[in-house]
Amino acid sequence: MAAVLRRAAGMRPLLSVRSGRSMSCCSWRWRSSSAQERARQYTVGKKIHGFTVNQVTPVPDLFLTAVKLNHDNTGAQHLHVARDDPNNLFSVQFRTTPLNSTGVPHILEHVVLCGSEKYQCRDPFFKMLTRSLATFMNAFTANDYTMYPFSTQNSKDFQNLLSVYLDAVFFPCLRELDFWQEGWRLEHEIPDDPGSPLIFKGVVFNEMKGVFANNENLYAQHLQNKLLPEHTYSVVSGGDPLHIPKLTWEELKNFHATHYHPSNARFFTYGDLPLEQHLQQIQDEALCKFSKIEPGTSVPKQSRWSEPRECHVNCGPDSMAPDPAKQTIYSVSFLLGDITDSFEAFTLNLLSSLLVSGPNSPFYKALIDAHIGTDFAPVVGYDGSTREACFTIGLQGIAEQDIKVVKEIIAKVIDEVIENGFEQERIEALLHKIEIQLKHQTTNFGLALASYIAANWNHDGDPVEMLQISENMARFKQSLEDNPHFLQDKVKHYFKENAHQLSLSMSPDESYLKNQAQLEKEKLQEKVNSLSMEEKKEIYKKGLELIAAQSRPQDASSLPALKVSDIQQTFSLTPVEMTYIDEVPVQYCSQPTNGVVYFKAFTNLNTLPEDLKPYVPLFCNVITRMGCGNLDYRKQDQQIELKTGGMFASPKILQDNDNLDMYEQGVLFTSHCLERNLPDMMHLWTDIFNNPHFDDEEHLRVLVMMAAQELSNGIPESGHLYAAVRAGKTLTAAGRLQEMFNGISQVQHMKRIAEKPELLTVLRKLPRIKMHLLSNENMRCAVNATSQAIPEVSTEVEKFIRNIPGFGKKKKDKKLIRTNITEKPLNPEDAGSEVSGGSQATKKIVFSSFKACQMKTHFQLPFPVNYVSECVRTVPYLNPDFPSLLVLARLLTSKFLHREIREKGGAYGGGAMLSHNGLFTFYSYRDPNSIDTMSVFQKSIDWAKAGKFTQEDIDEAKLSVFSTVDAPVAPSNRGLDRFLLGISDEMKQKHREQLFAVDHDSLVGAANKYLTTGHSTWGAAILGPENESIARDPTWVQR
Ligand SMILES: [Zn+2]
Repeated sequence: MAAVLRRAAGMRPLLSVRSGRSMSCCSWRWRSSSAQERARQYTVGKKIHGFTVNQVTPVPDLFLTAVKLNHDNTGAQHLHVARDDPNNLFSVQFRTTPLNSTGVPHILEHVVLCGSEKYQCRDPFFKMLTRSLATFMNAFTANDYTMYPFSTQNSKDFQNLLSVYLDAVFFPCLRELDFWQEGWRLEHEIPDDPGSPLIFKGVVFNEMKGVFANNENLYAQHLQNKLLPEHTYSVVSGGDPLHIPKLTWEELKNFHATHYHPSNARFFTYGDLPLEQHLQQIQDEALCKFSKIEPGTSVPKQSRWSEPRECHVNCGPDSMAPDPAKQTIYSVSFLLGDITDSFEAFTLNLLSSLLVSGPNSPFYKALIDAHIGTDFAPVVGYDGSTREACFTIGLQGIAEQDIKVVKEIIAKVIDEVIENGFEQERIEALLHKIEIQLKHQTTNFGLALASYIAANWNHDGDPVEMLQISENMARFKQSLEDNPHFLQDKVKHYFKENAHQLSLSMSPDESYLKNQAQLEKEKLQEKVNSLSMEEKKEIYKKGLELIAAQSRPQDASSLPALKVSDIQQTFSLTPVEMTYIDEVPVQYCSQPTNGVVYFKAFTNLNTLPEDLKPYVPLFCNVITRMGCGNLDYRKQDQQIELKTGGMFASPKILQDNDNLDMYEQGVLFTSHCLERNLPDMMHLWTDIFNNPHFDDEEHLRVLVMMAAQELSNGIPESGHLYAAVRAGKTLTAAGRLQEMFNGISQVQHMKRIAEKPELLTVLRKLPRIKMHLLSNENMRCAVNATSQAIPEVSTEVEKFIRNIPGFGKKKKDKKLIRTNITEKPLNPEDAGSEVSGGSQATKKIVFSSFKACQMKTHFQLPFPVNYVSECVRTVPYLNPDFPSLLVLARLLTSKFLHREIREKGGAYGGGAMLSHNGLFTFYSYRDPNSIDTMSVFQKSIDWAKAGKFTQEDIDEAKLSVFSTVDAPVAPSNRGLDRFLLGISDEMKQKHREQLFAVDHDSLVGAANKYLTTGHSTWGAAILGPENESIARDPTWVQR
């Protein structure tokens, strides 16, 4: 539903992506439809635990039944979506409509999770992360609502989490100390040194500085504030760092009293657990203690302008942007209609896709192909996250003087669309896209639904109408039939004849960051100067008090918890079948894919010359977008949209399971389609492998600019990952390649390409890469489909393999295997047996005796916060110490690093993790500190070595590891670990048993053995602002 289903703009999660639970969850099993059947038994008017049923609606296309209820005494609304999916979800959302930029809803979102009446301990939310098997836990502050969702597959866990969530939002302690920690406070730079200067601290304060360090976020915020200047949308709901220090504790408590009330609440439950039980718990533990109020939180409609408006704002320069002289963003936004009109919203959403999606859309042709900028503006297309929707179109990466040109093009395109409409085939492609998205199963469907309906429901729209996507589609088709100008009329009405439009430009100003820092300094001075001696003493005392509270051992025994014994001893197996088309292995995995076929292929790049390797990510980016066979790139895109759910290529570095000096390098091709379109999809792959087009330099430039811009924009969001990849660069051979493909080196490489005046030399490299990569030599394929479809699929796959280059070559003709390549059995069951001489399939693995060495790199970037990472080379997946290190990473995160880096240090996130690549990684995210955080990493190791943790701590860390290990896998991805990494179910079971067996000794042992060795196995990297102490230290490399 991506065309229709998108996350509200400006949503801010409490947890950063890394410290949060994996979003990839949910296997729904194709069992009897008992949950749905049960739900259909409810009758309108039925009373259940204080609620009254007022609507029951089956939605067969999504395999669900929606039940709408109201709470009699408070007016709270409840929507239950019954579906035979064990990954049950709960969410409660409140309409939060602030009228200032102090970030009060955002800070409140943080503080309510810091302790409640029943669960008095500090931070029950974070403590529950390790006491539960939740597949998702988080909280979000959007523009005009705040949402608290969780999901889990375990019914006991559901009740536990529900209890904690209900108590948190309705009966929070809202302690002053928590407000200081999470919101803002004045404190001495070194809290126990009253001689050190007073500065602003606080989690949200730093979080928002990080948010607005990203120019895309800054632009989106200005856009909304200026297009809707009258009410809650004119302020920054997340908090403007310069306004946050105005918020008082009293104001926070008042905001809670008026907004977090059942009369202002919407409850959502999803999955196969019985509704009655949910309702009873919600009634008994929360709603029975309230009566109705009039919350008065609704948002009035924006009064319409009689004339378009124009506005200009400034931002900081982006040092990674492709062309420093072209960093202006410009767009035009139109205010559309009320989002609660579901069909109109559906139509405008589709219209937006037709206008801006893909190389065949009129705005792409007119703006992107004109080479004026690098990409569309950061906000583009339909946005239904505010009460009235808007549509935005524009470019980023343009020269300031080109604004006028862009403006004229936009007006011209609108006129042309009104005149000519859209090609029928494009409308069909779009409807096909919705059809396949409805059938494609994801692992977080409940969460996707909750987000999908949130904005509409928040303004009293009907969420059930939004779920009836097929009805909306039918009505859309009918409208087009009744009136062939249906879409053109909309364009005329909403764009041509709409005076409520805003032209917004943003360009960098060299002094912007300095000015911002100066403004913050002035605010700080103002605050400090107004303090009496008494107040200063009080601040010093409170600072010490906060540290003492943060350091005190916590009694979390009031919190409910699952036990290690609640974890299943075994897991459900995923049988696969391996066949061979001559020498090409094909893995089949039959799954309830709902009529969708998933095809993947992996080819290695062992023979690729070194000088071409940095171009592999670019090759992957463009290979399905440059045209193939007799299709130019536009026709190819049209065909992909009409016949498939997408065709992609991505570079992969696959670490060997038992040797850190071995890895597989290659490219993974992925795609899916409806069963009926399989021959078309495989035909497209055949054309791409045989005859990809590498002749259009102009189009390559468009793709290069977009890719470079996207990479540069992604750094503030993923800075910790870039730091981690860099820190691992000198530790393993795979790590070095990883940096080349996915690290800062790649961002810089793409920037250099984007700056080239001509791309012919780059273009000529692509066919050379193709020769090494697009062949069936060293290829393996994987198919996930329904068992009925597999016979037909195998015919098509065979045809594909036989029709692409490389097939039929005799073994002796193949290129000589280079000395650093070794062979291993492809099937994990064959491991240990002799490789040579048999008919066994093998994979070719790079073997390099890599000499790890220490390197510490500081990337100076114009950010107000740091991303810090340190990596340690440890052991591969099959090493018996791997499970201990895995548990150790969770233990360090939840029992040490979270407290020191987030609570005390004021960073948005921090922790440790161990990946399949064998690198044990410490990281921090949006961190005001840098070197200090690295000493926290060291202290955490001392803490682990000293073994100052309990059996309960270990059990919690295990639970947390298992919530990832047992996270549901979508039918499209089952068997993928085996296909790519050669991890069999038997290996997984053994690993599982080893995890259960991890104990105090093995954890202390692992910390001693791996985390305290010499520097040669350590690497570090920091992304962040100028840093005097690093600059003085010769052991650091400055970039
Ligand atoms: Zn936050």
